Amino acid sequence: MSKEVVLGIDIGGTFTKLGLVDKSGAILMEDEVRSTEHEGIVEFIAEIQRHVEQSILKLEKPVLLKGIGVGAPNGNFYSGTIEHAPNLVWKGIIPFVELMEKQFGIPAVVTNDANAAALGEMLFGHAIGIDNFIMIALGTGLGSGLVVDGNLIYGNDGFAGELGHVRAVDNGRQCGCGKRGCLETYVSATGIKRTVFELLANENVESAFRKIPFSKLKPKLITSLAEEGDPIAIKAFERTGFLLGRSLADSVAHISPAKIFLFGGLAKAGKWIIEPTKKSMEEHLLPIYRSKIDILPSALLNKNIAVLGAAALSWKQLERLAK
Ligand SMILES: [Zn+2]
Repeated sequence: MSKEVVLGIDIGGTFTKLGLVDKSGAILMEDEVRSTEHEGIVEFIAEIQRHVEQSILKLEKPVLLKGIGVGAPNGNFYSGTIEHAPNLVWKGIIPFVELMEKQFGIPAVVTNDANAAALGEMLFGHAIGIDNFIMIALGTGLGSGLVVDGNLIYGNDGFAGELGHVRAVDNGRQCGCGKRGCLETYVSATGIKRTVFELLANENVESAFRKIPFSKLKPKLITSLAEEGDPIAIKAFERTGFLLGRSLADSVAHISPAKIFLFGGLAKAGKWIIEPTKKSMEEHLLPIYRSKIDILPSALLNKNIAVLGAAALSWKQLERLAK
């Protein structure tokens, strides 16, 4: 008998990652296609199909592809569209689910990458059996997925949970969205880099960062310098964690989560980001919430959480359709 699998797709600005995932969260095959080198969306989808068909032939055991889940920037769960995604080459509103279903002939579903990651944590990670939690994605920007009473929150228009664009600082840094002081301009891989350079300009201390150009600065390097005791690295994490913790305290007042999970490059900094975040969150929490909310790295931090999350989205949809 063929093993049932779904196709998890994570669409990024440069690469689109693919994976065939079974019900237990095992990834049977992984692959990627470029996101930018196609004449149009139809050719892009045709290339995904070619890759998937070839991969299926190479697998040792036969599989049955049941559904497709897609995590994409500005992916809209309700309409199945990808809407005005700033980092993608396709402009306007793309009817992605409709095009995928036409090409593959099986059910497809889309949401944004952080929402997909939250579902991945729920099905395959540390959030199994947890009905209230927040997933924070610390990548180039800050994405978030909110799970309340066992359900991922999509909101009225499908775009609920954009914590990256809550105001963290009055008249703060310019954000890509056009506003100022958004959380992601401070709390993200890009945000902490900006903080490091701001600290270098304002503080008169020795630091290994003084010899490193902005383009070479990665969260991993900030972590290793923090471990070596670099004062700028440690202060950068403290500031980043302070702002994240303060915003999370507000989110706690909205939805009262049991746990908060972090994933993405910056989450790999572990205690350096988690400890100042937790300290600041506790300081800013309403007393009734204090000392009961864990902040943890995602269980899928070192796996392909985006593909697993997209697959989880598809499994959830298939469950709904079977009812
Ligand atoms: Zn913004």
